[in-house]
Amino acid sequence: MNLANYINGEWIPARTGVTFERRNPADTRDLVGRFPESGAEDVSAAVEAARAALPTWRRLAPDARAQFLYKAADLLAARKDAVAAALTREEGKSLPEAAGETGRGVVLLRYYAGEGLRVGGDVIPSTNPNTLLFTERMPLGVVGLITPWNFPVAIPLWKIAPALIYGNCVILKPSELAPHTAHLLAEVLHEAGLPKGVFNLVQGGRAAGEALVNAPGVDGISFTGSTATGKSIARACVERGAKYQLEMGGKNPVVVLEDADLSQAVELTVQGAMRSAGEKCTATSRAIVVDRVADEFTRRVVGRVRDLHLGPGTDPDAYLGPLISEKARDNVLTNIEKAKQEGAHVLCGGQAGHRPDLAHGHYVWPAVLDHVTPGMTIAQEEVFGPVLAILRVPDFDAALKVANDVAYGLSASVFTRDLGNAMRFAREIEAGMVRVNGETAGVEPQAPFGGVKASSSFSREQGQAAKDFYTQIKTIAFDKAGA
Ligand code: NAD
Repeated sequence: MNLANYINGEWIPARTGVTFERRNPADTRDLVGRFPESGAEDVSAAVEAARAALPTWRRLAPDARAQFLYKAADLLAARKDAVAAALTREEGKSLPEAAGETGRGVVLLRYYAGEGLRVGGDVIPSTNPNTLLFTERMPLGVVGLITPWNFPVAIPLWKIAPALIYGNCVILKPSELAPHTAHLLAEVLHEAGLPKGVFNLVQGGRAAGEALVNAPGVDGISFTGSTATGKSIARACVERGAKYQLEMGGKNPVVVLEDADLSQAVELTVQGAMRSAGEKCTATSRAIVVDRVADEFTRRVVGRVRDLHLGPGTDPDAYLGPLISEKARDNVLTNIEKAKQEGAHVLCGGQAGHRPDLAHGHYVWPAVLDHVTPGMTIAQEEVFGPVLAILRVPDFDAALKVANDVAYGLSASVFTRDLGNAMRFAREIEAGMVRVNGETAGVEPQAPFGGVKASSSFSREQGQAAKDFYTQIKTIAFDKAGA
């Protein structure tokens, strides 16, 4: 399979003439396909197409734009199984998770189709009684969307759908580790009949991403990925005056208090830490547990994690699959080794997959580390793998302090029956998304998504919050002609 870019309504190979390959992380003997390794010329062609399409697209009534999103939603729903299978094959998560994510993509398209007629503006009292003063939301223009591999359906669509409905034209540069899923999304949008140039797909890695960030015809960049890449994108956007939005890493805690329902806390902590092999920005990476229940909680978590089935995403029993790449697997193993050297106790897992049937994939046995202290690297840095660090604390005050003592602030959860502690946690935790008796991962598309501190720039994605990035406010004053 040799797949092309999608530019100006046509499938075309990269002008660089170079391709890259993507292999199945569960079995690297399986070649998913070859994809264009695009460069600045490919990005320029896409930007030119998007700019040419913009004047007509932005003038279209929102309900007319919505029809394309509804059509795309229907097409994606009809192809759900095929898209989910492709997602599992190149990204590694289990088939049910991939199908769930594809279903969420359908919901996102339908949700934003409806938002077009709700965008609205404000009527503002003027100091002049004859003046009608109001605001309108205008499209930002041409937007570049740079996405990671871990939610290759949901993340591109939670950017594409609001961008399109609010009248922008789009260039998507997906992750080089999940290019096939992006190709299938582009097929859906093509078949939905979008006018040429309104949506463009440019495949490739860092060079294509950098070219998009630096392209003068791109008015805004919405990025999801690592904090290091996000910071470099922010600098480049500031330099040339482009709008930007960044969603980045996390070091998400659950806090378990003595009055928690321990069965619930154990199950949702394990789920948050180990589903998708811990490769979610909102994955639970720290369990901060008060001493009175720490032994019992830890014993039950380890028992549950030891029972989890590791295998390819196509195995119906697989709870978690392989990591995305060899580099990712080695990074997780190095982090665990370092944690051991710094004094953490590895209670289970933490080795590469050593079963014969896992020999050709990037597997790591899910790991639970006890007696982690806040100063250890494993307590501070994002690992992005199936690793749970347990930190023991004397009381709720200490738990809050430890929970906030990291650079990140994406999601957080507390397990308690005490309404006062729940309220205090919700108010005092430094996180963009807070749960009480819930998993740190898992968000609803109609609610704002994003973090604080090093996890996000200052805007939010999804829900109605998305319009703040994809539109700009125009203030308009009407006065009568003549004196
Ligand atoms: P990454 O930063 O390596 O890559 C993300 C995207 O940026 C890819 O498309 C990549 O090709 C591109 N890119 C790389 N270097 C670039 C550059 N210099 N200029 C422009 N583009 C460039 O991240 P990743 O490994 O794909 O994703 C994992 C990270 O994403 C984790 O840190 C995770 O926490 C984060 N993430 C955050 C969220 C969120 O919403 N907060 C969601 C999912 C993943």
